[in-house]
Amino acid sequence: MIRQDFTTTRKLHIETLTADLIIAGGGVSGVCCALTAARAGIRVLLIQDRPVLGGNASSEVRLWILGATSHMGNNNRWAREGGAIDEILVENLYRNPEGNPVIFDTVLLDLVHKEPNIRLLLNTAVCEVQMKEPNVIGHLKAFCSQNQTEYHLHAPLYSDATGDGILGFLSGASFRMGAEPAGEFGEAFAPSEAYGELLGHTLYFYTKDTGRAVRYHAPDFALKDITKIPRFRSFNAQDFGCKLWWIEYGGRLDTVFDTETIKWELWKIVYGVWDHIKNSGKFPEAATMTLEWVGMIPGKRESRRFTGDYMLRQQDIVEQRTHPDAVAYGGWSIDLHPADGIYSPASGCNQWHSKGIYQIPYRCLYSKDIANLFLAGRLISSSHVAFGSSRVMATAASVSQASGMAAVLCHRQGLLPRDLRQGANLLELQLELIRSGQYIPGIQVADGEDLVASATLLASSELSLTALPEDGDWTSLEESMAQLLPVQNGLLPVLEFAVTADRETTLELEFRASQRRGNFTPDLPLGAKTLSLREGHQILRIEMPISLPEPQYVFMLLHRNTAVRVRCSRQRITGLLTVYNSVNPAVSNYGKQEATPGIGMDSFEFWCPRRRPGGQNLALRFPAPLSIFGAHHLAGGIGRPTTGPNAWVADPGDPEPTLTLRWKEPRKIGRIQLSFDTDYDHPMESVLMTHPENVVPFCVRNYRIMDENGELVHHTTGNYRSHNRIIPEQPLLTRELTIVLEHPGPHTPAALFAVRCYEK
Ligand SMILES: Cc1cc2nc3c(=O)[nH]c(=O)nc-3n(C[C@H](O)[C@H](O)[C@H](O)COP(=O)(O)OP(=O)(O)OC[C@H]3O[C@@H](n4cnc5c(N)ncnc54)[C@H](O)[C@@H]3O)c2cc1C
Repeated sequence: MIRQDFTTTRKLHIETLTADLIIAGGGVSGVCCALTAARAGIRVLLIQDRPVLGGNASSEVRLWILGATSHMGNNNRWAREGGAIDEILVENLYRNPEGNPVIFDTVLLDLVHKEPNIRLLLNTAVCEVQMKEPNVIGHLKAFCSQNQTEYHLHAPLYSDATGDGILGFLSGASFRMGAEPAGEFGEAFAPSEAYGELLGHTLYFYTKDTGRAVRYHAPDFALKDITKIPRFRSFNAQDFGCKLWWIEYGGRLDTVFDTETIKWELWKIVYGVWDHIKNSGKFPEAATMTLEWVGMIPGKRESRRFTGDYMLRQQDIVEQRTHPDAVAYGGWSIDLHPADGIYSPASGCNQWHSKGIYQIPYRCLYSKDIANLFLAGRLISSSHVAFGSSRVMATAASVSQASGMAAVLCHRQGLLPRDLRQGANLLELQLELIRSGQYIPGIQVADGEDLVASATLLASSELSLTALPEDGDWTSLEESMAQLLPVQNGLLPVLEFAVTADRETTLELEFRASQRRGNFTPDLPLGAKTLSLREGHQILRIEMPISLPEPQYVFMLLHRNTAVRVRCSRQRITGLLTVYNSVNPAVSNYGKQEATPGIGMDSFEFWCPRRRPGGQNLALRFPAPLSIFGAHHLAGGIGRPTTGPNAWVADPGDPEPTLTLRWKEPRKIGRIQLSFDTDYDHPMESVLMTHPENVVPFCVRNYRIMDENGELVHHTTGNYRSHNRIIPEQPLLTRELTIVLEHPGPHTPAALFAVRCYEK
């Protein structure tokens, strides 16, 4: 029994903790920053004010994580972000293809919980920052109401991943809120005051059909007059969760200090909308439905943006400007919303895509004022317009991974964030990120420690593609389609494929590439042909004198003709893809982006893949085989298709696809890294949306590794992850490593993007 008498001196329990890096905010950004830093060997404290991790992606808010793939609705091919966020999305696909937000919580909790270098404090809010010097954070105070404990948290480095920026704000770092005038950075898309300068908050709700009549009494505070919402006719009984992103409010208020006021208005709207659906008589199908869940914490889009040594701006995104200090990338559209949100008569969003993905410089990822403060997530240094793109969660995660790795290098060498912005430190940062699975477009750094660079690589077979078998669907050209053809040796290969025509007709065939190598916007015409088709089945032979100076994908466009069907193949091969000139209104893709004059955006067509099980390749025949899948891609491998497949692909008929790495002298190997194909085109939306498979068909499931004596040193079955890191119990001393892969399926030959071997 505890019995305490009256006293005037009681205090909270105080616990003092130290770490190498303290991350405030456990959204997807904070989590990815923490995983990256902890795995690279430093002690991390992750402070999250809520009961679970994930921030806007958690079951408390229920947003699906998106980034450069944009629901597969733009021209960014193979653009899903790498590193920790890839691991999270692939794991979630494996465990949770149904997109259950509660399961998603456990994916994050599990990953963080089992990381020995992370100490996680849940339900703990950072509420005070103590400065050591005017521009150096000394320690933090945080409070957990669940255990009545005040934490005193000490570290040499801090990362602010709180969205609203509690560390940046309390430490006195420069920040901005609202839009820059167009003139400041020459941003033609900067909004007028009438449109508004801040994006608002949103609350979601989920519904379910109980199968029996359910009455609904709205709370007194619910919105009574639904016509106050100009688009009230868009509500229906089917949409819930992320589909109702446009229940948005607060863009005219202070999105930090007025959050509680905004939340009440959003509750008012949500319960009023449900009252309308249940009781207006317009939705009889809702009679058996009930509210299953209503958000209690609003999803915040925008508040403070902190100032780094550089501010990302519209031109960086639209012109895809390059930066020597690129460490991450974005690819979501520039997506601004009217500040009046749901009460605005304007469209709920104003999205403009760029022609490809864009680099994000390291100089946006630390405060220009506070020497030991990294910026992570949505609050990085970007203008309001650029924030319209960089704010989405997979992009926010990708930049946060970069800041997590930067903290590791600072710790190792006793440096501060700014010290890594150039020179050898920057190269080391980029290299460490690439090793950890991060993809940085346009950046390749020679890896002096990778033993594969000095090995001879021998493959038991390399796919020499003569045909994609005619075993797939007959696809009608209801929509224009294009086959992506990787051209590696200058000349477009001769090719043949089968079509069938309902009547005598002509088929318009066109070849295009991208003006910018590595993009997938077909804006460079290379040649065209009108083919006369007779009624019935026929084989078309295409021989076009097209040559390209450097490796690049060429689009073979087959223009719409409803009288024509083309034969497809069930064979799926890494780096080969069909795309369609289709529409995807959810991301403002109407087949073509026609830029409003004067807003600094580009006009171009969208050519996007179909989700599996759709999206088969054309059944092609290559009279001269396509030999572009060699094992030489594996040394320093890029890790995904870019200007070509960048993969070693084995011959489907090879019973044991085997890669041998041979050195002249024995090598000590303490770590082996393999990069498999988990289809970087697949957006893997984390919640709500369901996926047809829980393992990507391209991904090698089973493999084994042997040393020079044929001794088994490692064996994996049932792999589904992009990156496998193999640490033998004892470092190997060997002249040879043999990696034997199993084909992942009858229609998909084994493929590998990269092999890396390190002494430790
Ligand atoms: C309605 C809506 C729709 C959107 N649509 C999409 C979409 O479809 N896909 C997409 O990817 N993005 C979308 N976004 C944007 C995206 O959700 C945010 O930009 C993103 O969540 C930013 O990530 P973050 O980690 O920086 O912040 P958050 O996800 O907000 O995470 C920050 C975390 O820090 C915690 N925190 C805050 N203060 C403290 C403190 N003092 N101490 C400790 N912890 C603290 C918070 O609780 C939170 O968990 C949308 C946003 C909204 C609101």
